[in-house]
Amino acid sequence: MKEKSIVLGTPYGVIRITVCLLLVALFACVTGYAAKQVVKYDVHDKTHPRPPVITPAGQPGQPPSDAIILFDGNDLSQWRSGKGEAKWKVEKEDGYMEVNKTGSIRTKKSFGNCQLHIEWATPKIVKGRGQGRGNSGVFFMGIYELQILDSYNNRTYADGQAASIYSQYPPLVNACRGPGQWQSYDVSFVRPIFDGTGKCIRPARITVLHNGVVVHNNVEIKGRTEHKKKAKYRPHSDKGPISLQDHGNPMQFRNIWIRELPEQPYLIAD
Ligand code: MG
Repeated sequence: MKEKSIVLGTPYGVIRITVCLLLVALFACVTGYAAKQVVKYDVHDKTHPRPPVITPAGQPGQPPSDAIILFDGNDLSQWRSGKGEAKWKVEKEDGYMEVNKTGSIRTKKSFGNCQLHIEWATPKIVKGRGQGRGNSGVFFMGIYELQILDSYNNRTYADGQAASIYSQYPPLVNACRGPGQWQSYDVSFVRPIFDGTGKCIRPARITVLHNGVVVHNNVEIKGRTEHKKKAKYRPHSDKGPISLQDHGNPMQFRNIWIRELPEQPYLIAD
């Protein structure tokens, strides 16, 4: 009877060994991930890993040392449009970019959980009203819109004004500055999670500060941003781009940075 054997160096042997190694690596990843989810620490536990050290910015609104700079006033190298190159106007001297009806833009890199800082200004010369005045938006994962609008003495529906989670939640207060003035959003965004069947098992959550004022405090996002329709979730990948909307108004943006945030890797013991 012919004896079966795996000879190192033969193609068959190499394939078998590679498959085994991959399975071992996969098992290690899965068990490592599972262990991360259940690790608990006692109060003042000396084995509790200390967080990474970063350098905070000297001034509020400036990026800390672990931020990814998405726009520093110089170029659109971190951005693209739906058709390719991002073509918004860049005013290097004043350090801002401006919407110019060439379409919405999005980051080349994708993000899930994150902290975003962005500054924006509506046009100094007021034109239009309601949703037609100073309209843009920041879309997390390219899907979930935090509205940008000139809501300074400009009435529109509450869940569509500046700092609303569009079509879902009005902001807690209207903290808008006047036309042409720089304003800021500081946002913490937690991505949704879907199971293998595409069902959303953890909705996205968002906390927003508008000009330093909390306007959403850890609210649950109801689904993809829709217009005049109830939001619902449809599955998507774990990461997506940050998109900025071209709604036809010459909005300006500056000082945009982001920090990727991990899942909370442990639970504190009761
Ligand atoms: Mg908008």
